[in-house]
Amino acid sequence: MLRHHPWIFSGAVKKIENNPSSGDIVRVVDSEGTFIAWAYFNPQSQICLRLLEWKEEIPVNESWWSEKLLSAVKYRESVKIDNSTSAYRLVHAESDMLPGLIVDRYGDFIVLQALTAGIDKRKSIITEHLKSILNPKGIYERSDTETRKLEGLTPVQGVLFGETPDSIIEIKENGYRFKVDIINGQKTGFFLDQRENRKITASYAKNLKVLECFSYTGAFSVYALNAGAESMTCIDSSSTALEIARQNFELNGLAFKPELVLGNTFQILRDYRNAGIQFDMIILDPPKLSPTRALREKASQAYKDVNLLAMKLLKKDGILATFSCSSGIDTDFFKEILLWASIDAHREIQILREMHQADDHPVRLSFPESSYLKGFICRVC
Ligand code: SAH
Repeated sequence: MLRHHPWIFSGAVKKIENNPSSGDIVRVVDSEGTFIAWAYFNPQSQICLRLLEWKEEIPVNESWWSEKLLSAVKYRESVKIDNSTSAYRLVHAESDMLPGLIVDRYGDFIVLQALTAGIDKRKSIITEHLKSILNPKGIYERSDTETRKLEGLTPVQGVLFGETPDSIIEIKENGYRFKVDIINGQKTGFFLDQRENRKITASYAKNLKVLECFSYTGAFSVYALNAGAESMTCIDSSSTALEIARQNFELNGLAFKPELVLGNTFQILRDYRNAGIQFDMIILDPPKLSPTRALREKASQAYKDVNLLAMKLLKKDGILATFSCSSGIDTDFFKEILLWASIDAHREIQILREMHQADDHPVRLSFPESSYLKGFICRVC
């Protein structure tokens, strides 16, 4: 915690005074009684303290929350995002010094996720501040995540302010148009963290026969076809995601309509291998296979399997764009997994490009867990 890591686990707490309730702001001191930080508290969570402010003279009051929100929004709106993009992350929790709070913009609507009791308790103050800073049509809550259980909270979802968004709304990303379901879609509706990587990946796709695995609503394919991919196949296990993908291909007026394959990527790649089907380029963006370090070994096997299968399906010197969004698997470990996959596939790999989460999802140096999305463009020789 002296390194400003924002979490303290319950095992590290010796004494709790004055019987604070869940979500209360508390003063954290070391064993000598010296001030460490202001934090919010949750006795039900293993992470019982999330540290907010290291300067004792600065109280965590309404204006503290307002200032932190304003600072996060200012960076996105005035520095980073131009008007070819209307959907992006405004607040990336711990990385924006606001542990447990996710805020995404989708055009005129704001989607909020409260992941901890400390944020849950302040939802109405946060909503008020977001209203005055952003003047949105509506603020919609998507706190329907399983991780809330770790905080003793149940999943919730609904309107916090203003209009209810249509079930499908349209956004722009780097000039492309996408339909997004912010009410029922995965995460808060769209994988905003891949915005830059879609552009990078597409730049390798010209004239290639491309397979996009774990395609969700087909965003990588829209970029790749616009960059000149010759053909495109998308695999996903969600029929609703593929239906929106189909609409996204229409919306962007693509001459080639990708083939949509509903099913389990692991099985379909084996089927392709058995049938001798090959591709020039494969994009692999699996869901989080290792949410925690504890599941790392099991997940690493799944990452290895899927990358090994993809390498086998690639023609000589084919391109593999491969990602991992598990914070439990760091970049070096992911490289190691790719190395073992390539050895089993009897292929050599050249890394052409290393990729990260888009920079509206900043990495906080004192919180290494915030660097979660990693990817490589590989040439599979
Ligand atoms: N690349 C996408 C995001 C992928 S998220 C984008 O840029 O928008 C992971 C996707 O994998 C989800 O759409 C989920 O439905 C799908 N999925 C999860 N397990 C799967 C499996 N075993 N086979 C195929 N798809 C799967």
